[in-house]
Amino acid sequence: MGQIKKITCKYCTTSWEVAVGAGRAHCRVENILHFFRDDDQKKILETLGENKKKGFNFQFIPGYCEDCKKIVSKPTIKICETGEEYTGICNSCGTKLGTACGNPECPECKKIGWQETLEGFWD
Ligand SMILES: [Zn+2]
Ligand SMILES: [Zn+2]
Repeated sequence: MGQIKKITCKYCTTSWEVAVGAGRAHCRVENILHFFRDDDQKKILETLGENKKKGFNFQFIPGYCEDCKKIVSKPTIKICETGEEYTGICNSCGTKLGTACGNPECPECKKIGWQETLEGFWD
């Protein structure tokens, strides 16, 4: 079950609501491929292999979209066996999101320091 988190910058108090975690449908690779760019989709499928036997971890984490200038839900997938990670696209503008993990810097004041509060659940 995914969570809705409110992320507030400790410095300038700008806040964003982002969906993090993964939903029930996201354990099937067919349901998550569209979160990634075409070339990454190909690589993910190749890495998982024909019968998709290899396990993977998919989840949304907070990420920064340079085009939208805001904090968005960033889709990420990690292939268990190889440790390869791929980052998905922004669901509003389709830009591939940066690979940095963890908390991005604040688009408003450029500092890093977030307060997270749980707002609810999705899926
Ligand atoms: Zn800030
Ligand atoms: Zn965007």
